[in-house]
Amino acid sequence: MADIQFDEEFDFVVVGSGGGSMCAALVMRRAGKSVVVLEKTDLLGGTTSRSGGVMWIPNNRFMKEEGIEDSYEQAMAYMEATAGQSLDAPGTTLERRRAYVTEAPKVIDFLVQQGIKLRRAPSWPDYYDDRPGGSVPGRTVLADLFDTNELGAWKDKLRPNFMTVPAYHSEGFEISTFKSSWTGKMAMLRVGLRAAAAKVTGKAWTTAGGALQGRMLQAALKASVDLRVDSGVKGFIMDGGAVKGVVTETGGIERRIGARLGVLVNAGGFAQNQEMRDKYIPGTSVLYTATTPGDTGEMIRTMEDMGAALAQMNERVGNQMTIPPGHENTNGQGVSLGVVSGQMNYAKPHSIVVDQSGVRYMNEGGSYMAFCQNQLTRNETVPAVPSWWIQDEQSMKKYMFCGTMPGTKKPQQWYDSGFLVKADTIEDLAKKIDMDPAVLKASVDRFNAAARAGKDDEFKRGARAYDNWLGDHYHKPSHTLGTIDQAPFYAAKVWPGDVGTYGGVVTDVNARVLREDGTPIPGLYATGTSTASVMGRFYPGAGSSVGPSFVFGYLAAKHAANAGNQF
Ligand SMILES: Cc1cc2nc3c(=O)[nH]c(=O)nc-3n(C[C@H](O)[C@H](O)[C@H](O)COP(=O)(O)OP(=O)(O)OC[C@H]3O[C@@H](n4cnc5c(N)ncnc54)[C@H](O)[C@@H]3O)c2cc1C
Repeated sequence: MADIQFDEEFDFVVVGSGGGSMCAALVMRRAGKSVVVLEKTDLLGGTTSRSGGVMWIPNNRFMKEEGIEDSYEQAMAYMEATAGQSLDAPGTTLERRRAYVTEAPKVIDFLVQQGIKLRRAPSWPDYYDDRPGGSVPGRTVLADLFDTNELGAWKDKLRPNFMTVPAYHSEGFEISTFKSSWTGKMAMLRVGLRAAAAKVTGKAWTTAGGALQGRMLQAALKASVDLRVDSGVKGFIMDGGAVKGVVTETGGIERRIGARLGVLVNAGGFAQNQEMRDKYIPGTSVLYTATTPGDTGEMIRTMEDMGAALAQMNERVGNQMTIPPGHENTNGQGVSLGVVSGQMNYAKPHSIVVDQSGVRYMNEGGSYMAFCQNQLTRNETVPAVPSWWIQDEQSMKKYMFCGTMPGTKKPQQWYDSGFLVKADTIEDLAKKIDMDPAVLKASVDRFNAAARAGKDDEFKRGARAYDNWLGDHYHKPSHTLGTIDQAPFYAAKVWPGDVGTYGGVVTDVNARVLREDGTPIPGLYATGTSTASVMGRFYPGAGSSVGPSFVFGYLAAKHAANAGNQF
């Protein structure tokens, strides 16, 4: 690199501050190497920091500690039964699936050794728990709540999480059933007391992805990782086909930064880029994404221009959403999941989702990715974007609706604007939303018969542990099937929103970026949603985005540092 001019040099340069970035940086520091993380926006942590922050980690240490059965073989069987079934998905080769299942538990061990406090989600079934190797208790790992005051001057540099109450996911799920259970009421009380205590003690709790990335940031600062905001990378510095550094721009001033061991791109996907959506995932819109402003895809394009192969570009992690007026993503900040009805809502009893002709067309349980794939597929033959979420008074009384508490009066503006439609009969409801009343009535009647029988033969809702887990754990005999028969009846639109894209550059087992001919571009690594996912066209379980981002960030750093099996 003697004849290339740099403003400064590091051993390793990380582009973006997403899930795998700080994990890779910690590996580098443990290997005694210098590393800089360059973040384009003014906040660190990426969409990961806003997210649920859960990671799908098969065979992890917490499962072992609790005596929950899992093994490499079981996890591989499950990966083969899900990700392995993907067509045309070079992000999920058998070798990469093996690397994931082998390395993911080691990443958790490594993070715990770095002082990151993690735990198991007490219950979060795999999304296809009925397939070979599926786990009903679940393989999901998350961070302990984190007091952001511990970050000192960096506190305001952490991207906030979407959850504003200091609750674990499990508590949030319990609270959602507080009308029907004592467990829910107790969870509400516990979280309320925690929030009140924080006011007295001055704790600034963050949870979920905020806690994960807050803890990662704290560890990175302790390990003297150089972290920079407002430092967007606009291109690579090349020498003889190899990546030798990057060019950043801050306040209009360019800086050339050398990377002796390599560059890791962890710059997110393209959920905030309508032009790229129109090209790769037509029929979807930036209006319904919950990602953060930096998810604009330019690094994927830059790598493509350098010869990187792209794959799975038409996949995304769909997330069904009912969005109150004024809460669409019109300003690039992303839809706030705190104000929409999302995946937790549609599998509760007393509601179904139908297309615009009034016909039910899928199991409303299952993974959010599969839900939105079904919606887009249906829309190819019958208008289904948006679809309609049909529910009755029992549902409104028992469950939350778009951030409002069960049984509370909904804003009049919701009715006036047509966002929430109400009628005394199913037939009148159908008329109000331009549907054939007989068709909607027949759909509801069929569902009611299934609910009474406790078995949905048509779409098998409730046949998996996961569907039931999404439902109301206190509703019997089925957690997810309940009749729609108490007036008034309600309808609201459901959009195929998303929480991220799932395609990008093709990488190998060491996260090296590959060309179309399968050869690596020397010096260039990538992880996270900048890459074609190791999960292919499936979402096997909660944490299938953040988990791989960490794991392939870890593998990239180990490879670049030539660290072998040190960690
Ligand atoms: C509300 C919500 C909840 C979710 N919950 C979960 C969950 O619990 N588990 C899960 O697995 N997935 C979840 N997802 C999806 C998941 O959060 C994302 O897919 C994942 O975090 C993406 O991580 P990443 O590592 O690819 O990058 P990100 O975390 O998106 O970070 C990329 C960073 O790169 C920066 N960047 C972009 N371009 C440049 C550039 N040119 N130069 C420098 N920096 C750049 C961006 O600004 C950003 O900060 C959720 C998403 C949302 C929105």
